[in-house]
Amino acid sequence: MSVDATNPATGETIGTFEQLTDDAVADKIAIAAEAARSYRLTSLDERAAGLRRAADILDEDSESLAATMTAEMGKTLTAAKAEIAKCAKGLRYYAEHAPEMLADDIADAGAVNASRAFHRFQPLGVILAVMPWNFPLWQVIRFAAPGLMAGNVGLLKHASNVPQTALYLEDLFRRAGLPDGVFQTLIISSKQVEKILRDKRVAAATLTGSEGAGRSIGEIAGSELKKVVLELGGSDPFVVLPSADLAAAAKTATTARCQNNGQSCIAAKRFIVHTDVYDEFAEHFVREMAAQKVGDPTADDTDIGPLATEQGRTDVVELVEDAVAKGAKVLTGGTVPDGPGWFYPPTVISEITTEMDIYGEEVFGPVASLYRATDTDDALRIANDTDFGLGSNVWTTDDSEIEMFVNGLDAGQVFVNGMTASYPEISFGGIKNSGHGRELTKFGIREFCNVKTVWIA
Ligand code: NDP
Repeated sequence: MSVDATNPATGETIGTFEQLTDDAVADKIAIAAEAARSYRLTSLDERAAGLRRAADILDEDSESLAATMTAEMGKTLTAAKAEIAKCAKGLRYYAEHAPEMLADDIADAGAVNASRAFHRFQPLGVILAVMPWNFPLWQVIRFAAPGLMAGNVGLLKHASNVPQTALYLEDLFRRAGLPDGVFQTLIISSKQVEKILRDKRVAAATLTGSEGAGRSIGEIAGSELKKVVLELGGSDPFVVLPSADLAAAAKTATTARCQNNGQSCIAAKRFIVHTDVYDEFAEHFVREMAAQKVGDPTADDTDIGPLATEQGRTDVVELVEDAVAKGAKVLTGGTVPDGPGWFYPPTVISEITTEMDIYGEEVFGPVASLYRATDTDDALRIANDTDFGLGSNVWTTDDSEIEMFVNGLDAGQVFVNGMTASYPEISFGGIKNSGHGRELTKFGIREFCNVKTVWIA
């Protein structure tokens, strides 16, 4: 079987890649298991040196790698370069800070009749990473930088539409001098994942992707009693209350919705605005959204490139059509442009009701749903009326409202007077159908550690 890489800006095939046979996958698992036995014995300094070299290589490769990412999945060249820079920063951050996150955690020895008691963080072994195409580098580095510092070994099953970026990642860690087999890419179909996850030599899995993929990986891991971290979809609320700076909120709301051509799990998707400022905010927001330039992702002045796949655009079109058929109002956008490529314009829709699919589903494209809240309590109610719980945003300068929303929003992350973003220095993850477990920081690095309790008389 082979898989095609297609440029979403043109619809043209840009490469064809052979998928590994099950026998070839078995060989790679054996290599990974062998590598795990010796890599766990390497020092933190050795691992950190590898990550720092990988960061330097990313800096050197930025131009060519960004071009590959843009050609494979359509993000703008500017966004691709920013993603690469963030990955280099993340690698350096974990090279520097993982040692303190992995240091023995000292317990109260006297309380347990010991001379010494502590927790030691040891690697689990081979971790299967199933990753999506939307941030084809960062999603992987977000797992790999902490994971490799902890002494784990990675097997990457990347999304099928980004094979060149997937292969680049294996090459990156090889060139950075990490031991053979510590990080391998498997060009395989999602159907081959189950057998790998059931293999005794694979200790755990991390998946970033859709709810459906999460349920499948979660079920298999559950039946094998294996640890799993799931980072799934989101339909993040962006709440605007009367004290907010409305012009600034509308500008950030536009970036939050349109970043990565509207294809980010932590993009704000539902804009919930207090009735007192609804009309004014809507005016600013529609103007900002309509001003976004859609076009060639390699051009410097493009804000929004194409959606990554034809199916992805069809899904967006169907959600908008369903809403309009049931009475929603399109304030800007909403029409597929003529011509090649899977472009979709920045769109704002209002008058959404619970009967519309868009009320409950994630829209993976630059489509904003606008809701009018009767008061602050109603805004919080609408914000939480979703099966997802990934990121969330609230705009207010009132301290009691900030407390109310920080405590009350059902989400893994709350950003106040800003937009949800993934930084190497803070944790990332969700609740409810957005998944479970955390990535990054001491919480993320320990997800794939054996937290060994040590008691010494
Ligand atoms: P998919 O879940 O289809 O794909 C993600 C990865 O999972 C790909 O590598 C894919 O392989 C693989 N995969 C898909 N189905 C299965 C399965 N049944 N068993 C094993 N592996 C599987 O996601 P999309 O391409 O639709 O990506 C967008 C989704 O990902 C959105 O819902 C988005 O919100 C979510 N996402 C979540 C993020 C987070 O951090 N929480 C970040 C980014 C995206 P293949 O490509 O070969 O099908």
